[in-house]
Formats: sequence, C-alpha cells, structure tokens
Amino acid sequence: MKIAFIGLGNMGSGMCANLVAAGHEVHAFDLSKDAVAAAVEAGASGAPSVGSAVSGCDAVVTMLPAGKHVLSVYFEDQGVAAHAAPGTVFLDCSTIAVEVARTAASQAQALGFEMVDAPVSGGVAAAAGGTLTFMVGGTEASFARAKPILEAMGKTIVHAGAAGNGQVAKIANNMLLGISMIATCEAFSLAEKLGLDAQTFFDISSKASGQNWSMTSYCPAPGPVPTAPSNRDYEPGFAVDMMLKDLRLAAEAADGSKAPTALGKQALETYERLAKYGLGAKDFSVIMQTLNTDAS
Ligand code: NAD
Repeated sequence: MKIAFIGLGNMGSGMCANLVAAGHEVHAFDLSKDAVAAAVEAGASGAPSVGSAVSGCDAVVTMLPAGKHVLSVYFEDQGVAAHAAPGTVFLDCSTIAVEVARTAASQAQALGFEMVDAPVSGGVAAAAGGTLTFMVGGTEASFARAKPILEAMGKTIVHAGAAGNGQVAKIANNMLLGISMIATCEAFSLAEKLGLDAQTFFDISSKASGQNWSMTSYCPAPGPVPTAPSNRDYEPGFAVDMMLKDLRLAAEAADGSKAPTALGKQALETYERLAKYGLGAKDFSVIMQTLNTDAS
C-alpha cells in the first residue's frame, strides 16, 4: 500500500521503518528535517509537507505528541483532510483525550474519510521491534482496513469498539499501571523496613496474590528482575512524564464521565510530585527511591 506517515519521533521513527520493511511505499513527514532524513535512510520517501505526503495515499498514519497536534495535522487548511483522496483511512496512533479522538473521527467521517484511534502499549523498543500492542477504536469496517497496516508495526491488535474506545482502553490500563507501581513500591518498602529483603519478598509475592506486572516485569526494587530500570539508576523505560500525561488524560476523562477514580487521582499527585523533584525523565518506578528518601 501507499501510506503517509506523519510524526517521526521516538515512536514514529521505528513504526515507519517497520511499514517500509513490510513492503509498503511510505511517504514520511515531520516538522524535524533530521527525523525525515532518518526515515529516508530507513527506506521511506521524504515529503516536504503534510499535503505532499498524503496525496495519492491509501492510508495515513500519525504518531504525534498530543490532541492539539492531531487536530491541526488532520483538519487545518493545509492538513491531511484537505489533501487526502476521498475514502482514505486515517490511523492515529498518538495517545490523546477520548473526546478529542471522538471529535476527530466524526469530523473525518463528515468529510468522507474513515478514522480509527489506535494508541499503543509498549515503548520505543517495541516500536522499533514491531511488537507494539494496538488498541483500536472505530467501526468494524475501518478496523478491518486498519488491521493489516497495524500488523506491520505490532504483535497484538485489538478492536476495542467504537471511535475513542482505543483511547479509553489506553488510559484505563495506564491508570491501573500507575497505581499498581505505587502499591508495589510501598509493599517492597514495607517489607524492607520490617527486615525482609527485596529478593525474598519478590520470590514470595511474585508467586502469591500480590503478583502484578509492575513487580514481575518492572520490579522497582533493584535485583530481582535484571532487565528492570531499577538496575540502571531508573533510566527509562517508561518515563514519569509519560505516565503523568496518561494519568492527566485519565483524570480528565474520569471527571467528564463522573467515574470514581480516587486512587488514580492520588497516583497523579504522586507522579506530579516526582516531576516537581526533577525526576520527570526517570522511569516511573523511581518512586521506590523517593519512598525511601522520604522515610529516612
Ligand atoms: P516524540 O515527541 O518523540 O515524537 C513526536 C513527533 O511528532 C516529533 O518528531 C515532532 O517533530 C512531530 N510533530 C509534532 N507536531 C507535528 C506536526 N504538526 N507535523 C508533523 N510532525 C509533527 O513523541 P513520542 O515519544 O514518539 O510519542 C508519540 C506519541 O506516542 C505520544 O502521543 C505519546 O504519548 C505516545 N506514546 C509514547 C510512548 C513512548 O514510550 N515514547 C509509549 C506509548 C505511547
């Protein structure tokens, strides 16, 4: 297929390269010329504007920082919708607010396009390795068109329902992750203060009912999981600032839908405090260190 790719940052660069590797003809655009040059090196054609990237393409994939960028890239005067052929399918893989994703999908539909929100789980390594998980919101028909494209960039592709539901799945999952990491740090800290070392607690709890992903894949206490960021001075991984973005989106959506998320909001405050301490670029498991600092 002929595919336009817009947003060649940390995530988009690897995703774009995987579309090329799968045999698609990819037309790449980013505001950064260096990012476009890297995409060209990976086999894409560099485009000088959104319009020229999109013209004549069957599909458009975007991986942008936030909702305002998505709305402007698609719907501004010289944006995607102004240049794409009628019927083109749009795949926005950025993490954005549920309401913005729903607005974008209905705006696209009103202009004669199909659009899915397809945010991802998995970081830069998964984007480069083509092993992302995509959670997709959109009609059955647009999901069917998007799926083969997403398969070139990910391992697990799940249809979450109507437009916006991909973003719902993303923020609900990441709110749970943010809370579970804090709870895991508190448990390791408590065990340690009471004389139980991290490895022994891990050996027990990872086989007992406290077991969770934050413990078994990203163990915040150094030692038990060698690949975890806690063993490399909490270099990300998944940065506090990224978690903060997702928790803010979750809190906004919870307010809008009157969903009770007391722990989600407490988690948001905790990560805000970490960012204020200058730890925004560290892995989100760095809470383990600040718990110990506060306690000492
Ligand atoms: P990034 O900042 O590295 O990349 C964004 C790219 O978009 C940049 O290259 C920027 O120049 C480009 N861009 C911005 N506005 C543009 C415009 N108007 N036209 C063209 N290009 C434009 O961000 P990232 O880390 O790649 O994240 C992208 C999205 O993926 C975000 O929504 C983020 O929340 C989500 N996400 C990131 C990760 C991660 O680990 N980095 C994981 C899951 C989801």
